[in-house]
Amino acid sequence: MGKTIITVAPTGAWPTKKDNPNIPLTPKEIAEDVYQCYEAGASIAHLHMRDDKGQGTMDKERFKETVDLIKDKCDIIINLTTSGDLNATDETRQSHLKLIRPDMASYDCGSMNWQHNSLFINSPSFLEELGKTMNEYGIKPEIEIFDPGMIYNAKYYVKKGILKEPLHYQFVLGAAGGIAATVENLVFMKGLLPSNSTWSAFGIGKTHIPIMLATIALGGHIRVGMEDNILFNKKELARSNKQFVMRAANIIKEVGNEVATPDETREILGLE
Ligand code: ZN
Repeated sequence: MGKTIITVAPTGAWPTKKDNPNIPLTPKEIAEDVYQCYEAGASIAHLHMRDDKGQGTMDKERFKETVDLIKDKCDIIINLTTSGDLNATDETRQSHLKLIRPDMASYDCGSMNWQHNSLFINSPSFLEELGKTMNEYGIKPEIEIFDPGMIYNAKYYVKKGILKEPLHYQFVLGAAGGIAATVENLVFMKGLLPSNSTWSAFGIGKTHIPIMLATIALGGHIRVGMEDNILFNKKELARSNKQFVMRAANIIKEVGNEVATPDETREILGLE
């Protein structure tokens, strides 16, 4: 047992104010929300942006405005999505990284049918280019895994010198088109990781709590927030992202672990 990192993913690309009126969408709303989560124990903020209509966007200026507002308030680790808009080009999926140089960014290690209705494309040439960009700008990739084949893709890019170990993995369980959110699947995928890896996991929607509990029991780190889950429990919408962070922090302490601070998280993940 040791330190457990809490990542908060406050917004994502999909949920709307109709789904949950408490979801933060504007730079100001996101920055205020992230600060509350930081105070409650989150040490990483995984960020998506929305345009004025509330649609996912890779607009680099919007990322910059939000990150600047957050940095004025706290030293939470910044983790930016590279997949905030299925129609974005390979270039716009990286230009915010070059502008902002965040601590971390997502690296979705393969393509998939997304929600049975669209394509989530991460082509071999994009993944090679993205890996090079992250190396050049000193950004730690968060290797997002939606199915076990993506772990083998990561191993391939390590062999090719595009990704550098030790890697940090994020397992996404229960996204339609990817692996289902069961404890057996989590244990199986954890077993495929190189022993020098760090890892985190979460289940989408109602699988959120069982996967969180299993992840803590297996020694992994966790992610919470409205990107993955808009309900706090079966009947209640989440009042805030902070509510999720507070519950996670309580569970971590209850099992005898400690919630990692941003400095401790930097050390665990080997961030610069
Ligand atoms: Zn995301």
